Amino acid sequence: MLAALARWSFGTLLVLLAAPLLAAEQKPAPSATKPQAVQKTPVADKKTQATTQAAPVADKKTQATTQTAPAADKKTQATTQTAPAADKKTQATKTPSASVKKAPPPPAMDWKAGVARAKITPDTLMWMAGYAARKQPAEGTLQDLYAKALALEDEGGQRVVLVTLDLIGVLVTVRESVEKQVQEQFKLPPEALVLNASHTHCGPEYRERTGREEEARNYHKFLETTLVRLVGEALADLRPARLTYNHARAGFAMNRRRNYALPADDVNAKKAPNPDGPVDHDVPVLCVLDAEGNQRAVMFGYACHNTTLGFYQFCGDYAGWAQEYLQADHPGMTALFMMGCGADQNPYPRREVELAQRHGRSLATGVEAALFANPRPLHGSLRSALEYVDLPWADESKEKRHYPVQVLRIGNDITLVTLASEVVVDYSLRLKRELAHPPGLVWVAGYTNGYFGYIPSERVLAEGGYEAPEYAPGIEERIIGKALELYRRLDSE
Ligand SMILES: [Zn+2]
Repeated sequence: MLAALARWSFGTLLVLLAAPLLAAEQKPAPSATKPQAVQKTPVADKKTQATTQAAPVADKKTQATTQTAPAADKKTQATTQTAPAADKKTQATKTPSASVKKAPPPPAMDWKAGVARAKITPDTLMWMAGYAARKQPAEGTLQDLYAKALALEDEGGQRVVLVTLDLIGVLVTVRESVEKQVQEQFKLPPEALVLNASHTHCGPEYRERTGREEEARNYHKFLETTLVRLVGEALADLRPARLTYNHARAGFAMNRRRNYALPADDVNAKKAPNPDGPVDHDVPVLCVLDAEGNQRAVMFGYACHNTTLGFYQFCGDYAGWAQEYLQADHPGMTALFMMGCGADQNPYPRREVELAQRHGRSLATGVEAALFANPRPLHGSLRSALEYVDLPWADESKEKRHYPVQVLRIGNDITLVTLASEVVVDYSLRLKRELAHPPGLVWVAGYTNGYFGYIPSERVLAEGGYEAPEYAPGIEERIIGKALELYRRLDSE
């Protein structure tokens, strides 16, 4: 039975790989993986509900595949021949018992979700953030920048609000101000607020630089007001929802540091990027569905500098285009991008608008793949924790960095760890290894709740180079130790 199921799934996967366009055209089939629930019992438990609804979609897929992907025919046949158990399941689904026929039970709507978005493109041609070498302000807007909020509430009334921004970073002053205001106005505790920035280098510079203090202050103020309003709108929009999670991959991020392990006389010893360096190609995807199965929101991540471009037009770079494409392909859905630990990763190739769009499409296709390939329904409660750890500098006279670490549990299965500022990929790879989940269920975001330069791992600190400001050794243990501590605390609650 299990072997047959495994073959069935593998066949589906091959079909998926053979016909990626099909994936983009179809709605996801939540829980289409577990048709055995139908065989088990006609009693309307949660699994049966999901299966009954999802099965016709799965059927459609098989038909469509037979018609549009002849290359996959053999595979489909092979699966059909060797997995009679799967056939029975299909029959069972097609001829359900009278009770199921009469009143198909609705899927479990055990969450509430609210979504809001606001344009945050500056209304003046401000200076742009991200490259110190910029010589002039922006010349125009190629793509609008957005702030988006996703509010979630569990059956016990616990809430979190995840906010994503097409901006260089979340300044500590923005975090502090918004955190205080949403606590006062909406009783949202600090640990339940996530502010993540996409790190686009084609957004406004809103740190106060000499001679440009006023435009930065004005934008800062506008941003605070907008974000507080946005959190309120997302909370006001809370209504019954289903959540699913899955992950896929996208491959355009490459480690941008040179390979420090090479001997000095190697031809590539001083060359970057490093195709053999560590990367995290994971594309985690959280999907919010309404009662009819429509996608209301999709929040997805990737660990890679959002720096395909360095010109003078406001735009969201690859992450902006990924969100735009997903929203265009799913009318009515809001797509939110959450930046991962991409401090030492760049998108390649780069420097042209067409390339940023291509990476955006590539990432959007990763999201579509995750939505298509049997996303996992989420059940359970919301829990969150936020604490600060002090990071000392090598120069002890310098004031320690006050560093926020946040852990969220979304249902029984998903852990989201958020780390502040520009975190190198070693952190997400290590946290995924060390947290006690099966692979794929840990989501690590960087660039969250604070923005103040690079956060090296112990390896990067020892190697030196651009992403290695002079923190005192032990930085990685301090940060990882805090994340694990918070994780265990939430796990025992
Ligand atoms: Zn950066």
